[in-house]
Amino acid sequence: MKILEVRNLTVYFYTYAGVVKAVENVSFDLYRGEVLAIVGETGSGKSVTTRAITRLIQPPGKIISGSAIYRRDGEEVDLLRLPEEELRRIRGSEIAYVFQDPSSALDPLYTVGYQIGETMAAHRGGKIKQYLSEAVDLLRMVLIPDPESRSRSFPHQLSGGMKQRSVIAMSISNKPRVLIADEPTTAVDVTVQAQILHLFKQLKEQFGMSIIFITHNMGLVAEFADRVAVMYGGKIVEEAPVEELFQNPKHPYTQGLLNAVINPLNPQERLKPIPGTIPNLINPPAGCRFHPRCPYIITGKCEKEEPPLLGDRHKVACWLYP
Ligand code: SF4
Repeated sequence: MKILEVRNLTVYFYTYAGVVKAVENVSFDLYRGEVLAIVGETGSGKSVTTRAITRLIQPPGKIISGSAIYRRDGEEVDLLRLPEEELRRIRGSEIAYVFQDPSSALDPLYTVGYQIGETMAAHRGGKIKQYLSEAVDLLRMVLIPDPESRSRSFPHQLSGGMKQRSVIAMSISNKPRVLIADEPTTAVDVTVQAQILHLFKQLKEQFGMSIIFITHNMGLVAEFADRVAVMYGGKIVEEAPVEELFQNPKHPYTQGLLNAVINPLNPQERLKPIPGTIPNLINPPAGCRFHPRCPYIITGKCEKEEPPLLGDRHKVACWLYP
């Protein structure tokens, strides 16, 4: 069952240098209980896409067009058109975020237990203190050692990994139906990374939570995702179930991404970086945005005509696949 249906999402940023076409005509679905990974290089539009879903785009950014249909209890709402007050009720309770930098999500003046309690009180009503013991349970659930005393710690008294786990505890405190995790493991070491991913898997299974997982780490995608959407230059260029994408990547950009990471089956193989740099989105290349870097360019076509994203389970936007 689809829980989220994003269609033709377009987001621009109006800067002094010009209009940055950060995301253009992006469409995808999120199903109940699945992990959808959105991958791509920095600047490909991954974070802007997911922030736009609940209108977390600040000026000079602007959502130009599109819809984000969210389905709950037999009703459908378009998050891009919902009154702000109603959207605020959904944001943080039904659709929650975990951002890359945990420090920006925590208030240095309050203990983590208090802040988790505050999130619950804001969405469920009542006083913060009535949620403090539940906050301790959540800290235990995210594997924070000695959660009782840690709940009374201020953010600066916690390590990076513990801060990130506290933010996750805050995000899941109202048992959201959709969790958007934006590079949640970038700031932590590999041991904590594995713990956080294990925790996400548990949450998915325990609560049937749907997760959008943004990363540029293909290893994490292989381990954790059910489906993958690959973004390049503000557009989705390929989308497929995870095994299918790794075994049969179709888009030359996806092939490049996979060639640029260590293949566990052949670790001796030389890594091949993708030549060139990401496009300037103030003046993106015409036709296929990947054409200046593509080794398979069809001259005369790819620089002029934009390939549509076509396919059923495995979608690709490339003229090599008519
Ligand atoms: Fe390469 Fe053309 Fe396919 Fe773009 S459409 S990825 S330029 S072959």
